[in-house]
Amino acid sequence: MKVGIPRALLYYKYEKLWTTFFDECGIEYIISPETNKAIINDAANLAIDETCLPTKILLGHINWLKNQCDYIFIPRVEFVYRAQMCTKFMAQIDLVMNTFRGEHLKFLFYNLYKKGPKAEYKAFKKMGKYLGLKKSVYKYAYYTAKQAQVYYEMFRAQNQLQLLQQPTPQNKVLVVAHAYNIGDKFVGEPILRTLKNLGCRPIIAEYFDARECIQASKQLSRTLPWAYNQHLLGAIALYHEQVDGIVILTTFPCGPDSMVNEMIVRKIKDKPILTLTMDTQDGSAGLETRLESFVDILNFQKERPHA
Ligand code: SF4
Repeated sequence: MKVGIPRALLYYKYEKLWTTFFDECGIEYIISPETNKAIINDAANLAIDETCLPTKILLGHINWLKNQCDYIFIPRVEFVYRAQMCTKFMAQIDLVMNTFRGEHLKFLFYNLYKKGPKAEYKAFKKMGKYLGLKKSVYKYAYYTAKQAQVYYEMFRAQNQLQLLQQPTPQNKVLVVAHAYNIGDKFVGEPILRTLKNLGCRPIIAEYFDARECIQASKQLSRTLPWAYNQHLLGAIALYHEQVDGIVILTTFPCGPDSMVNEMIVRKIKDKPILTLTMDTQDGSAGLETRLESFVDILNFQKERPHA
């Protein structure tokens, strides 16, 4: 049996958890390639216009995988860190099944629909049983995978803190974007590359410790419902004073981001903020020009801090 993992959405959050789990269970898997032009074209053709770009990209990756594996892996996640997910994550498996109806694809998923410390294990347990695995196998695989994921996140968070705290003549720019946007070659990479080419040091908000950030997000909003937006908002609350500017990268048309980004711009008054919105259109010329102007502002502020 071979499982196909789309390199999209939750993959960028749980890569270590998933791949370690399948490795420990002895299940073969294939991961779709980095997002490329062909995948983007498929994504645009398969999705309706109202779908957000990361969900469109997911469809493009599934299209790439569909003839290469026995099962396509699409977990359904409703809660993380006791907070709610954007509704797109809850509907993902239904959306995918409907889009590919008539193609006789088989799907594998775990359904995380409860809060609580054991909820994720119970979801994996059900999937393990569905796969016909012994309890000793899926239980060991899950806890090993969970540990791998936790270490990976800790390492990444420490790395970002070092980048933030090390003195540098470069402009430090806090890049605020969901994991599946900043990690995607088509969406996030051009922004990071351009910032580096312009002599900046990008600091990735998403890579800071999620629990600390979610706690800190209460300083800016006590009512924000979405877990991943809480994570990003908390990173801004904790670290905006230590950077020279903030770049908010969002994708069209994202409901949660459209509200949260507006709130960030209203509440954070002491740093220059640039908001960039990506869609399936190609071409980075406009993007580079906007980032160049933004970096000019950062340089100007450094040279004349009281201007
Ligand atoms: S948060 Fe926005 S980009 Fe992410 S899945 Fe929901 S609508 Fe799409």
